Amino acid sequence: MPRLEQQDFQGGRGFGAERLPLTPAPSVLPAWFGGLVAVLVIVVAAFYGKANTDWDWVDIFGEGSVLAILLVVYARVARTALVSAVRMPLMTGLLLMIAAASADWADEFLLAMPFLNLLENFGFVIGGPCVLYALFAEEQIRGHESSRLQRQAQHFESMALRDALTGVGSRHAFEWQFASRAPQGGFALLLLDIDGFKRVNDENGHAVGDDILRLTGGLLRDSLREGDFAYRYGGEEFALVINTAEVQQAREIAERLRANFAALEHPALEFGRRAGTYGTLSVGVAMAAPGLDAPALFKAADQALYRAKAGGRNRVETA
Ligand code: GH3
Ligand code: MG
Ligand code: MG
Repeated sequence: MPRLEQQDFQGGRGFGAERLPLTPAPSVLPAWFGGLVAVLVIVVAAFYGKANTDWDWVDIFGEGSVLAILLVVYARVARTALVSAVRMPLMTGLLLMIAAASADWADEFLLAMPFLNLLENFGFVIGGPCVLYALFAEEQIRGHESSRLQRQAQHFESMALRDALTGVGSRHAFEWQFASRAPQGGFALLLLDIDGFKRVNDENGHAVGDDILRLTGGLLRDSLREGDFAYRYGGEEFALVINTAEVQQAREIAERLRANFAALEHPALEFGRRAGTYGTLSVGVAMAAPGLDAPALFKAADQALYRAKAGGRNRVETA
């Protein structure tokens, strides 16, 4: 399991954008097809050439190998070239070179034409730079594409790990990171639940409820020190992972959060406090310890939170 990392919330690391593959263009010709054609051409030409011309085996295999390599490369790149800006010069260059490599044979075995001579002389001179250009363009495009995918992956990752309304970590991030960290111990789990939140919505509307959740997210984010993490666990419930091994310190932090929330300035909250119905939150605290697994730790904090609610709300209870 991955460790809890600050960067995970900044969309930097975690799921590894570099693992996303570039999708190749759909298959045009399988690579083995080029090899098969090359072998056939070489075999037929070798026997025909030996029987009808003064070529020797060195000529036949020398020229044949160049043709074979070009055909295999052609079939291979026709399959994988990403975009037409790469595919067009690459195919043109390779076709010119294939034609140049075959021209000598056509010239010898079939018919002598000035056009074939021209091809033989200029096929490599023109085709070579075309292929080089295509390879350069592909390098550039792959570079751009891969950084675009990386940025996109980071964007999706941060969307998955961050709660959109409150800006704290998501439930997904909590479950992923809390489960891996719990057995190591050395931290406090705080579960916060806003008191009477249903009435906030009922009496002020859902939009005001959302405003208060946003304010709460801001309050939590501003209160955290390096190494602490806040997550929105559910509707108006938040989980905090506080980097301390001291229960006293965890309690003090929980108490400070409770007091800060109870002092949040918002007309609806102030109204609720005057009426004694809402405007506060309750906290359950439990200490992680080696050997205590994530569900047991969560249950301990949840039971403490339940006691805080049962004891009259607007208070902190420790497991
Ligand atoms: P308690 O003091 O016992 O915690 O009471 P409560 O009313 O806070 O508890 P309850 O769990 O019954 O109500 C939670 C409410 O939170 C119900 C739901 O309408 C509201 N809620 C959940 N998610 C959202 C949200 O994203 N936006 C808004 N505005 N309200 C939400
Ligand atoms: Mg609740
Ligand atoms: Mg509540």
